[in-house]
Amino acid sequence: MSLQALVEISRFYGSNPDYVVAGGGNTSFKGRDYLYVKASGTSLADARPGDFVKMDRGALARIWGKTYPADPGEREAAVLADMMAARVPGEENKRPSVETLLHDILPFAFVVHTHPALVNGITCAQNGKACAAELFAGGSLWIPSTNPGYILSKVVKDAMDDYRAQKGKVPDIIFLQNHGVFAGANTTEGVKVVYDRIMNTIGGKIKRKPDLSEQQDSFGNSGATGGELMAVAASISGQAQWFVKFERNAELVRFTASEDAFKAVSRAFSPDHIVYAGSEPLFIDAAVAGSAGGIREALKNHTEKTGVVPKTVAVQGLGVFGMGSSENAAANAVRLFNDAVKVAVYTESFGGPLFMSPEQTAFITNWEVERYRTKVAQ
Ligand SMILES: [Zn+2]
Repeated sequence: MSLQALVEISRFYGSNPDYVVAGGGNTSFKGRDYLYVKASGTSLADARPGDFVKMDRGALARIWGKTYPADPGEREAAVLADMMAARVPGEENKRPSVETLLHDILPFAFVVHTHPALVNGITCAQNGKACAAELFAGGSLWIPSTNPGYILSKVVKDAMDDYRAQKGKVPDIIFLQNHGVFAGANTTEGVKVVYDRIMNTIGGKIKRKPDLSEQQDSFGNSGATGGELMAVAASISGQAQWFVKFERNAELVRFTASEDAFKAVSRAFSPDHIVYAGSEPLFIDAAVAGSAGGIREALKNHTEKTGVVPKTVAVQGLGVFGMGSSENAAANAVRLFNDAVKVAVYTESFGGPLFMSPEQTAFITNWEVERYRTKVAQ
């Protein structure tokens, strides 16, 4: 039962935080006529057969023959409509993953797409492309940062066609810059072999591992700061309640030591970070945080500048507060900020951090599909 095998491998990677944090990642299985792909808003960790959308591959293939509007918003809406129309009857209540087209074009029965921090240590690094080419010379594709959706699928499709034409085979590893990795094989065991190769090869090149061990809070009660953040965020947003979650570990102490140290984690590396932890974390100086009204002022100014209450607030020398309109959203902000911290540490082995560009960050922030995913995740 291949759908059952898909469920099992989805749970296998989905429940391992080295591969999947919060709702990230998606998986698929395909035969000749149909593709089963993860539905948007479901989680790999507790995947069930009903969480996959059965798609008509003929209808998906016809998307490549069509011409879409040049305007990104109109184009993505039109492609989404065609993708929805490719669901087989009975699947109308599900929304296929935004990466469905990409899954469909990869010529492997099983495809597992994840955003592991270790792998993103390469995909989000200054020398990532050269390092990936050297480490995976046997067969891998590097896709430069590209807006997700139809355009990304098209870029990968063209790159795969070129690769096949030049080398007479297809790569089973596709690195997406500032995003993650796709791995494919015709059996789930084969997928595991590919992933082990990826993780072991990159892992062998890491000079320093992130240290997320808990640190004693030597700066007094973070609860007072947390309480103030909670109250101010609620009054700014106009919502009755706001949630915060505090975290302090060895890396957070290191990165919040000064505004300069914070630079390595001050922008988003990948779409996941934007969606859950926000594209612009607020850094508050210890002196400002300690002064009367300092936190209120800093939070207010940052919200006015960016247009949204920040999802992550770092206080110098103290740690990081995840913020959100629900407990889960606040916890996810911390989880994904910690993920960004891990990515930042891993990039040290590959030339240092490379953030998403402001244009790409804006695209994700405004993307209707990502908004849907955030809504579902809360
Ligand atoms: Zn992805």
